[in-house]
Amino acid sequence: MTAIVLLGPPGAGKGTVAEALAGKGYTHVSTGDLLREQIRLETPLGLEAKANMDQGKFVPDKVVVGMIRSLLESADRGQKFLFDGFPRTLVQAEKFDELLLSLEGAIDGVILLECPAEVIVERLSGRRTCGKCGTVYHVKYNPPAMHNICDTEGCELIQRPDDNEETIKKRLEVYAERTAPLISYYKAKNLIHPINASRSIAEVRSAVLEQLG
Ligand code: ADP
Ligand code: AMP
Repeated sequence: MTAIVLLGPPGAGKGTVAEALAGKGYTHVSTGDLLREQIRLETPLGLEAKANMDQGKFVPDKVVVGMIRSLLESADRGQKFLFDGFPRTLVQAEKFDELLLSLEGAIDGVILLECPAEVIVERLSGRRTCGKCGTVYHVKYNPPAMHNICDTEGCELIQRPDDNEETIKKRLEVYAERTAPLISYYKAKNLIHPINASRSIAEVRSAVLEQLG
């Protein structure tokens, strides 16, 4: 089993790139999506996660690592994963390494999506999502064919509760404090591939594809 990690601040375009790579043989794993599914199902895990997510804080490491452990333990040996939003802390990165080692897997590369704060704020404020299929749109940069209606499901799009100005600011602070240290962690392992993510969706997609070889 191999893993590619998409690293970068909230709003850099990790989910969008992962969606654009559908059909390339990767299993897309977004811990944010997995957690939102637990919230939708109103499970105890979902209720615990929601309180943190709504405030722009991280869900505890043990919860997230537990989710990834069960997912990987039931995966096929040859499966190729594209991780989006995981790992997000040094503890998660270390546990992830241990887990992959125990399953004879490895990280193939870490793609760092670099994007300045002002671009991020504009992207997150304009993000709209389909509550049914999870497709991510942007009011200006990736609009649906019909205003605020999902192209696939035909239902109204929603704005995530954590995509408001105050929570975006908090999430950027948490990223700088807890996730940015992963850049040095993976640099030391020679795994980091930086990409300028402030370009168009198509340009970022081809740059990522080039890295994936
Ligand atoms: P992340 O998964 O990193 O939080 P998303 O993929 O959800 O980010 O993207 C955040 C918002 O920015 C979405 O509304 C998406 O449509 C938009 N977006 C993503 N990549 C780009 C890009 N390269 N150019 C313009 N808008 C983008
Ligand atoms: P995302 O969909 O990646 O923007 O994640 C939304 C929210 O889910 C984050 O702000 C966190 O509260 C939570 N979350 C997602 N992934 C993780 C993770 N790996 N560790 C901790 N919290 C996470």
